[in-house]
Amino acid sequence: MYIILLGAPGAGKGTQAVMLVDKMKLVQVASGDLFRKALQQETALGKKAKAYMEKGQLVPDEITIQMVLERLEAPDVNNGAILDGFPRNLKQAKALDKALAKQSRAIDKVINIKVLEEEVIRRLGGRWICRNCQAPYNEVDSPPKVKGKCDRCGGELYQRADDNPTTIKKRLEIYLKETSPLIDYYKKAGKLVEVISEGGPEAVNKKILTALR
Ligand code: AMP
Repeated sequence: MYIILLGAPGAGKGTQAVMLVDKMKLVQVASGDLFRKALQQETALGKKAKAYMEKGQLVPDEITIQMVLERLEAPDVNNGAILDGFPRNLKQAKALDKALAKQSRAIDKVINIKVLEEEVIRRLGGRWICRNCQAPYNEVDSPPKVKGKCDRCGGELYQRADDNPTTIKKRLEIYLKETSPLIDYYKKAGKLVEVISEGGPEAVNKKILTALR
């Protein structure tokens, strides 16, 4: 099964991806996590992506598409994946469709997680992420049991450099311009399900699981 999680930054894609991985035994493929790992390891890919990420801009398509498609070819992704943060524009969506079709596969469902802009700014300002397993927390809505430590793996929690008001604004602008046309693209393909991000992560997860059944 190949599932895409669509939605503005802060909609809860990462939180939902982690919950779905635990429940559905699928692998999470998060383009942002792949870039952050490359950045941390100071690889050539990380160096190319750095300036774009710091400004909240999209990393160029050639780099991003190649990175994600390579990840999708790994043996652990054989049974499918939960795509979080990719595709982010039409070119990426079409490249993904084409690559999957070559293996006689296709996207099964696209979950569009809807959230209000003011909620995005509130959520991202209070977001903490595990350095080890990338599980996201929110200091108000979903704090970890022990401050600064991940509930799932005990890893250290940190705040992303691009979760600051200026970069969040830029990321939202780019989402509206580049990513939101994907809603129509997948609606036309008959794959889109819309879920409103309210009532907490568990409630949203229940709605997503119902939609996937
Ligand atoms: P995210 O963790 O999904 O919020 O992504 C963090 C940053 O990584 C984004 O602001 C972009 O700079 C870059 N990025 C992640 N996914 C993509 C993508 N599909 N296309 C281009 N850039 C991306």
